[in-house]
Amino acid sequence: MAKQRRSVPFAQTVDEVTSAPPAPAPFDLHARGGRGYRLIDNDINPQQARDIAIQGAALGWDACGCGGDCGYRWYTAERVAQAATSGAPELRQQQHLKGRIALLRSDEGDHLLLAHFPTRWGDLLD
Ligand SMILES: [Zn+2]
Repeated sequence: MAKQRRSVPFAQTVDEVTSAPPAPAPFDLHARGGRGYRLIDNDINPQQARDIAIQGAALGWDACGCGGDCGYRWYTAERVAQAATSGAPELRQQQHLKGRIALLRSDEGDHLLLAHFPTRWGDLLD
């Protein structure tokens, strides 16, 4: 009795693989309103942050330095652009905490900045 091994022809396998829709990577963060963002750079320099803010970017402020676990205080792109006209953010150091700004982008191309305590930016962050 011949053993029958059911196999899928190679051409068909290739077709199934290439026609399968790519699984989108999960978003790194959901901002206020539910929009998803992907992390571009975890630690951009203050001048970069200023340039991006002037072009238009919302901002989330991690006011306690926990990394956003307890939530962000949100600022509109208009408010952030206004702060950016006064200068670049100032990344500070306080005990073991170091100020940091991360850059994220939505699939639609909108930028989002996340500022982590201790950081100052005009009258925006404290
Ligand atoms: Zn926190």
